[in-house]
Amino acid sequence: MIERVGGPAVRIPAGKLLINGQWCDGAEGRMIAVYDPATEEKIGDLVAASAADVDRAVQAAHRTFESTHWQKMRPLDRGRLLEKLALLIERDAEELARLETLDNGKPFGVSRNVDMKFAIDALRYYSGWSSKMAGEYIQLSPFFDDGGTYRAYTERRPVGVVGGITPWNFPLGQAVQKLAPAIAFGCTVVLKPSEDASLTTLRLGELILEAGIPEGAINIVTGYGYEAGQALVDHPLVRKIAFTGSTFTGQKILATSARHMKRVTLELGGKSPTIILADADLDRAIPGAANAIFPNSGQVCTAGSRLLIEASIFDEVTKGVAQIARGLKLGSGFDPLVQLGPLISSRQLNRVSELVSTGIKDGAEPLCGGGQVVGKGYFYQPTVLTGGRSDMQIAREEVFGPVVLAMPVQNAGDIKALANDTEYGLGASIWTRDINKAHLLAAQLDCGTVWINTHNVLDLAMPFGGTKMSGLGREFGTEVIHAYTEPRAVCMRLETSAFD
Ligand code: NAD
Repeated sequence: MIERVGGPAVRIPAGKLLINGQWCDGAEGRMIAVYDPATEEKIGDLVAASAADVDRAVQAAHRTFESTHWQKMRPLDRGRLLEKLALLIERDAEELARLETLDNGKPFGVSRNVDMKFAIDALRYYSGWSSKMAGEYIQLSPFFDDGGTYRAYTERRPVGVVGGITPWNFPLGQAVQKLAPAIAFGCTVVLKPSEDASLTTLRLGELILEAGIPEGAINIVTGYGYEAGQALVDHPLVRKIAFTGSTFTGQKILATSARHMKRVTLELGGKSPTIILADADLDRAIPGAANAIFPNSGQVCTAGSRLLIEASIFDEVTKGVAQIARGLKLGSGFDPLVQLGPLISSRQLNRVSELVSTGIKDGAEPLCGGGQVVGKGYFYQPTVLTGGRSDMQIAREEVFGPVVLAMPVQNAGDIKALANDTEYGLGASIWTRDINKAHLLAAQLDCGTVWINTHNVLDLAMPFGGTKMSGLGREFGTEVIHAYTEPRAVCMRLETSAFD
């Protein structure tokens, strides 16, 4: 247990691996220290899993996948397992949320009302999907009349063992986002959470055992990406990688997956524009733009990190967003008044600092923020930059921190060109009162999700993913079935004369 100053006690799960329904040590005994990002205190240890550990986990997942017990389990009963897990998370949501806040730094209210709620909702959503795996009946047009009649049908088959590799910004939610569709559609899983935030995934492992999920169906290996993650992607028995993380890692995974022709879904980075047109309701658009970038300290893949504003309202909007930024309270996620926690690590803090410093050297001007917060913890000031150009590094690279670059736009052609002038294509929001402009512009944006008069609204029923360097494939919604299953066509010849 760790006693928090001014906060509740938090139980830290043991640094173990979950393989074949058993908690075990890593074969090589190497560990990774875990730090509280708000205080820089050490709070625990994780196993640094080796390729041999990953192999044990994949073999267990493969055995379970091939077992009669798993293959014969009724889809509805797989769904019941997910529902049971949802109930257990609901029961322990306060405790899990405290652990997430301790490990990741985000405010407790966000852990409780966003991360835990999403995990519970996702389990319920996918639980329903388990019994909706359907194929189709197909009438064929044979080339030759051979006296037979042809019929075909398709069935959707689970892909097999799934490697679920997740980042640190929504740790528990991301783990569930990978395991729930896998189990719903009859796959088995090896999860590899981020080395920067694995504690709630390990605690989830305890609930997975309590829920009675068959041993080997969900395994958890902690460790470094270049070692444990790489070993999972390399493993020939892993048939699909479901990855959320940076574009850099996603590219490596895609290249490595080619060797065994693994299926992949890649949910990667973004540089999403928040577009504010001159006719927008600024009482909503200004807080909307702030809310698009600052929550979770900007560590959101769809964060509105480029603010494109029609020139006539540029000063009013940037001043308004900067005023909101200056008023945000930073600090420990256990302080109920705190709105922004720390960044995840000193590495991430240095990366954000360097990108902003380079941006300022290149000519951007901070309207507010622009520096680290002095003292313990990996805190960065909410920052609004103006005076930037689209060719600057700060306009092109994902910062993944509370930093927005505002740029004026002159006309419709300008808006479309600037919004799409990025190698990413995850999300975009348009703020306007004119429904014609909203939909005509939405149709011209090259990205996976367009929001109108809102930003960052994700829903399990809505497909989610990116174009260009923001990824491959979609999660959520009806698209999800394609991500975790393969169609199998069965073709039969009926002897027409048999029933003459
Ligand atoms: P990251 O790519 O560094 O790490 C993500 C995961 O990949 C971690 O578990 C890591 O250990 C593992 N990994 C690293 N190298 C690997 C390798 N060679 N092989 C296999 N696994 C490897 O990303 P991060 O810094 O943890 O997360 C931040 C990034 O995630 C941002 O770019 C953000 O935009 C992106 N993200 C995207 C979405 C989305 O849905 N599109 C959601 C959240 C975060």
